[in-house]
This record gives sequence, structure tokens and C-alpha cells, in this order.
Amino acid sequence: MTRIGFIGVGTMGLPMASNLVKKGFSVTAYDSNPEAVKAAAAAGMTAAATAAEAVATAEIVVTMLPSSPHVESVYTGDGGVLAAARTGTLCVDMSTIDPAVSRRIAKAAQERGVRFIDAPVSGGTPRATDGTLAIMVGAAAADFEEARPALSAMGTNVIHVGAVGSGEVVKLCNNLIAGVVGVAVSEAFRIAEGFGMDPKVVTDVISKSSGNTFLMGFMHPVPGMVPTAAASHEYKPGFMTDLMCKDLGLAVEAARNLRVPLFVTPAAQQVYRLASSHGLGRRDFTSVYSFLKPSSGQAPV
Ligand code: NAD
Repeated sequence: MTRIGFIGVGTMGLPMASNLVKKGFSVTAYDSNPEAVKAAAAAGMTAAATAAEAVATAEIVVTMLPSSPHVESVYTGDGGVLAAARTGTLCVDMSTIDPAVSRRIAKAAQERGVRFIDAPVSGGTPRATDGTLAIMVGAAAADFEEARPALSAMGTNVIHVGAVGSGEVVKLCNNLIAGVVGVAVSEAFRIAEGFGMDPKVVTDVISKSSGNTFLMGFMHPVPGMVPTAAASHEYKPGFMTDLMCKDLGLAVEAARNLRVPLFVTPAAQQVYRLASSHGLGRRDFTSVYSFLKPSSGQAPV
């Protein structure tokens, strides 16, 4: 039975680690939030009091943490994974972070005789729960093969996309598109609504037209359009607005370093940031629709 040390059993990590348990892996879990550790224990995992304890006897370490600084400190900080893991341990970071940070941690890991690969995911909580995530892996071929059984317990599309950091590159490109589309679909439906259109009719037609998107099919921002979408459940995440802000920030930063001109992404990021500052940061990112309300002013436009 492969021993997994799992760090970060939050919104995504808990259902992902639970699927590892269901498929016969032995999982020891740690999270800085004691409530999350309790939930992990209730799902059949061994509770650890520290990150070091979670990885001490692990063959594979999985991390699912919010952002780059969390991941870097969990790996390279005092009492971190790189200091505590046994030589040869394979570390799989599944968080969405800056590809440059993944590469930096991989280098630090190598110096300690530990292996580090990146395997960010797409699909949100429904697919994390079903074990049907898309997982994009940046790794040496042999490390990918070694991680594959554990990754296959969490996802159905497990794709090797290149060397370490490459998974994060694909992920930030994906979320750039999803983030921009989230704003675009919300704006479109506010216009349709302003004209008194039935959003069901608009959805039906667009889903058969050139504006069709995965987002509208599965994460429709208008409440009541897709029963399983966050919008139909008071925008309970799902994927939080603050995380979308972070991911669009990763894209903006990458583009800056590469000198790629970017127009639409920074605009979308600011919309999410403003939504966040109006209290929607911990709601699903599609709550941006509820934020983009028409103004009630009587002045001429
Ligand atoms: P989350 O905030 O619900 O979970 C992160 C967990 O990490 C929390 O339980 C938190 O307590 C824990 N944590 C933070 N710092 C820690 C530390 N130093 N040590 C141990 N535990 C620590 O976030 P999430 O929604 O599960 O997202 C995790 C990652 O997955 C993010 O990078 C996100 O961008 C990515 N992601 C999320 C979704 C989604 O739909 N939620 C989809 C795809 C990718």
C-alpha cells in the first residue's frame, strides 16, 4: 500500500485525498487548519500534527495549498517537507502557483535528494469529488510514471505536458481563459436581462452558437441555469473569486516577464478584485455576475 503524505486538505485537497483513501492508498494528512485535519481523519486518513510528521514515512508527498508563498514555505521553510522527507521521496505539488516557483522548489529538492514535480488540476470541486479531474503534469518521464497511479486515483485526464513547471504554465493559460470568459458571460447575460430576455432562451441559443463555452455549460453565472453550478447555490465555492484573482495575477506576471502585451486579462483581474473588495472574495468566481449589476442612475448615458 503506497504511503502518501497529503498537505492541504481544504476545498479541493479533502475530496482528492479521500479518493486516494477509497482507491487503497494509505494517507497521512496535515493542514494548518485543525478543522480540516479533523475532516480528513473522519474520511479515513491518519491525522498529522505537522507537515514534517505527515511526510516522514511517505513515499509520495502531495500538496494542495492556496498559492506560491504557501507552497514555497511548506517545502523550504523550517520544519518543511524538504527537510523532513526521506531521500528519494517524490513530491507532487497540485496547487496552482507561479511556474518559476515550481522550478525553484524542484532545484532545492534536487539538492536534498528529493524529487519535485508539478501537477495542477482543473475541474473544481465536483470533479475533485468524483475523481475525474484533469491533471496537467510537469515532470521528468520516470517521475510522471511513478506518480501516475496516485494521480489516476484523483483524475481521469492525467496528461504529461513537459518538464517541471510546464503543468503550471498550461494551468495559468487555462485559467486566464476561464477568468476572462467568466466576466464576458456575466456581461452578456446582464445585457440580455436588461432587454427583458429569458436567460434560459439565451443560454439555449448561445450553447448552439459561436459563443458557447464550457463555463456556461457547467458553471453558468446566472442562478438557476445549471442546477449544479455555484450560482444555483448562492455562489458557494467552487472556485473562489480570490483564487481567480491570484491566477489571473500569475498570468499577468508571466506576461510581464515574457514581454507579452496583455489587455483583457488585467481588466478581468480588476473586475474580480473589485468584486472581492465588495465581499465576494470567498464566494465562487462566477459571483462576479451578481456584482456586475446595472446602475440605477437616471442621468443620460
Ligand atoms: P483552500 O483554501 O480551500 O485549501 C487550501 C488548504 O491549505 C486550506 O485548508 C488551508 O488551511 C491549507 N493551508 C494553507 N497554508 C498552509 C500551510 N502552511 N500548511 C498546511 N496547510 C496550509 O483552497 P482550494 O480551493 O482547495 O485550492 C487549493 C489550490 O487548488 C489553489 O492553488 C487553487 O488555485 C487550486 N485549484 C482550486 C480549484 C477549486 O475549484 N477550488 C480548482 C482548481 C485548482
